[in-house]
Amino acid sequence: TIPVGILASLLLAWSVFRIAKTRTAMPAVIKSALKQREFFLEYQPLVELATGRWIGAEALIRWRRTTGEVVPPDIFIPVAEACGLIQQISQYVAKQFASEAGDLFRRYPGFHVGINVAAADIHDEATVLMFRELAAATGAGRNNIIVEATERSFTDHSRAATVIKQMRQEGFPVAIDDFGTGYSSLAYLERIRFDYLKIDKSFVDTVNTDAATSGVVLHIIEMAKALNIEMIAEGVETELQAQFLYEQGVRFGQGWLFGKPMPFSQLLEGLEKSMPM
Ligand code: C2E
Ligand code: CA
Ligand code: CA
Ligand code: CA
Repeated sequence: TIPVGILASLLLAWSVFRIAKTRTAMPAVIKSALKQREFFLEYQPLVELATGRWIGAEALIRWRRTTGEVVPPDIFIPVAEACGLIQQISQYVAKQFASEAGDLFRRYPGFHVGINVAAADIHDEATVLMFRELAAATGAGRNNIIVEATERSFTDHSRAATVIKQMRQEGFPVAIDDFGTGYSSLAYLERIRFDYLKIDKSFVDTVNTDAATSGVVLHIIEMAKALNIEMIAEGVETELQAQFLYEQGVRFGQGWLFGKPMPFSQLLEGLEKSMPM
């Protein structure tokens, strides 16, 4: 029999090799995927907890390989960031949304669409221009397009603060995404003004039936209230979570309870049923 130690190191070597192989191949593959337009968008409804109405949606990127396999963004976004392709992806997302939006904002003037940006975007003033063009292309007015920036993407506070300030001056609300998962959440909130705070799913998950709801989620809510920032709870999967968060003063929610990410056509169908706004 082969000793366990040797087996373990063989396994380790194999997995390192596999990761290295995909890491080096990925940038070229992503570049070609951009050219071949293999990326597409899905939209997940954003719901007003008090009424259940769809008041917005988040645009989420997906990658359909030529093999038919759909790769989730958690796999390729970090690679695109590491190899300097992320801003091309952001441009692609903006263009793709513009091409689908049609008369969305004319029909639903109060509707919000969240667009995710990455660290490179939030440190580059050209991103403001990208959003200005997106607004022009979609006929979006003030507040229609929300810029979603994850907390982890703020590497240079003062540069990020400058870009965010410009976005807000142009009329784009800015959301701090995945809130609570970074290292110095409080420091950002003191220095940069945000319009929305998205409570990360990992905290929403702690809201459950056995009365063991984590105090952390309550602290986040208290803090957002004190700073007067509107909250959006992410990853709401149960009625109990929605009810609890609503009672605590969270106004908006997003999650499988209300709707999974869907194609734009399906979002429009749902919208017709969900309101007149
Ligand atoms: P995110 O911005 O936090 O997006 C929310 C993620 O949670 C989405 O995963 C969504 O499908 C998932 N989700 C929503 N509700 C539920 C729920 O009730 N249960 C569960 N289990 N999951 C739920 P997705 O689409 O796989 O995206 C993952 C991440 O990839 C996003 O996290 C975002 O950070 C990034 N991403 C997605 N699209 C883009 C993009 O266009 N640009 C950039 N830079 N990043 C993107
Ligand atoms: Ca997001
Ligand atoms: Ca998030
Ligand atoms: Ca997340």
